Amino acid sequence: MKITIIGTGYVGLVTGACLAETGNSVLCIDVAAHKIDLLNNGGVPIYEPGLREMLERNRAAGRIHFSTDLAAGAAHGDILFIAVGTPPDEDGSADLQYVLAAARNIGQHMNSFKVIVNKSTVPVGTAQRVQHAIAAELAERALEHPFSVVSNPEFLKEGAALDDFMRPDRIVFGCDNDQNGVRAADMMKSLYAPFNCDHERLLQMDVRSAEMTKYAANAMLATRISLMNELANLAGCIGVDIDAVRAGIGADPRIGKHFLYAGCGYGGSCFPKDVQALIRTASEHDQPLRILSAVEAVNDAQKQVLEQKIVARLGADLSAFRFAVWGLAFKPDTDDMREAPSRVLIAALLARGAKVTAYDPIAMDEARRVFALDLQAESTAFARLSFAAEPMQAVEGADALVVVTEWNAFKSPDFQLLRAQLKTPLIFDGRNLYEPAAMNALEIEYHAIGRTDEP
Ligand code: NAD
Repeated sequence: MKITIIGTGYVGLVTGACLAETGNSVLCIDVAAHKIDLLNNGGVPIYEPGLREMLERNRAAGRIHFSTDLAAGAAHGDILFIAVGTPPDEDGSADLQYVLAAARNIGQHMNSFKVIVNKSTVPVGTAQRVQHAIAAELAERALEHPFSVVSNPEFLKEGAALDDFMRPDRIVFGCDNDQNGVRAADMMKSLYAPFNCDHERLLQMDVRSAEMTKYAANAMLATRISLMNELANLAGCIGVDIDAVRAGIGADPRIGKHFLYAGCGYGGSCFPKDVQALIRTASEHDQPLRILSAVEAVNDAQKQVLEQKIVARLGADLSAFRFAVWGLAFKPDTDDMREAPSRVLIAALLARGAKVTAYDPIAMDEARRVFALDLQAESTAFARLSFAAEPMQAVEGADALVVVTEWNAFKSPDFQLLRAQLKTPLIFDGRNLYEPAAMNALEIEYHAIGRTDEP
């Protein structure tokens, strides 16, 4: 099939690559000319394991192309995916300006029957707004091309995005049940047939329910994390090891073992903004989501837990200390720094006068860019932030190590070397990577999340 992807970011590029991989002819469109230039020159603007190779294969086979030409994009695809960003607006609601701009562009240029698929995470009712925006542009052109708007939320996880897309747990899509909607549903089933071969993964529903499913999924996952973080904070005070509790409850199939890890808060481009957007939708309908408001408040507080532990141990004035920080991306296997807990921690340490030497296996370039923006008004603080080329280089001579992201590379360091490199054998671990007993045996003072480390 001929597919156009509008918005060539984390979701759009992965979607485009995977649909090309299954034989479709894909044209990826973006307004960011630098991204398209990079892609046309063989580069990849984001880090995602396996993506570079998949793009190379499909570029070579002539199945994927990149352009800033929206008119060409609207003409090319039988199915047009909208995969642009939906960042939080000032009031927490999803900012739909990019989605609606893409819709208007489609209406300005479409020339035959089209299926328009909302892959961006959008509030319930957005498909209808997209429908109206396209219809208004067609009316302007005095044209009556039929089209149908489908909701097809994306559930991929950054860091495992290709696998998630190629071997999904489920593919949710919502279609209208009028004539165009039925035609659209048939096309969606054909497109996704290669991902649906060994058991039924396609979940077809009405458009509004599909839109809500994405928010409900992220709300559920964020809730598990915040609940575990609250339990961990209690555990640390009362002589309980939250990691033992995690194993104990995760063995219950009604609970399951995923998303039960306590830590220094969730980040990323999805959970924070989607929880906020759902809270906002609910308040507009006078149906407050009290649990989700608490989930958000707990997470905001959890991003400060490492700072609090450091202050409790070393005092409020940290100007005499230098900290090594391992892990900057919001989670492992990505370079994405959006809402990353490392940003909150590093800003707090710098504000208290500390020096920070940071290291991340992949996100260093993005981190330099992001911290330059975050700290642009505080040049003296920014001057105290440096980046190391290797994890042990960051640690050399530091007063303490702070672990913020659970990259595999941090899980089994040479502890003897680590101990020798640190000025003081002191670790604050925001991801519970190490065993307290082993740290004790190594005579490393170890503060983690909910692991009986409180005085
Ligand atoms: P992103 O910021 O990485 O990419 C969005 C792209 O859209 C950018 O490259 C931007 O330049 C482009 N764009 C903006 N307006 C445009 C327009 N009018 N025409 C063409 N291109 C335009 O965002 P993302 O992380 O890929 O997220 C996209 C959507 O998918 C969001 O709604 C997000 O919530 C959702 N989502 C993201 C993930 C994830 O893990 N990143 C997972 C599931 C769902």
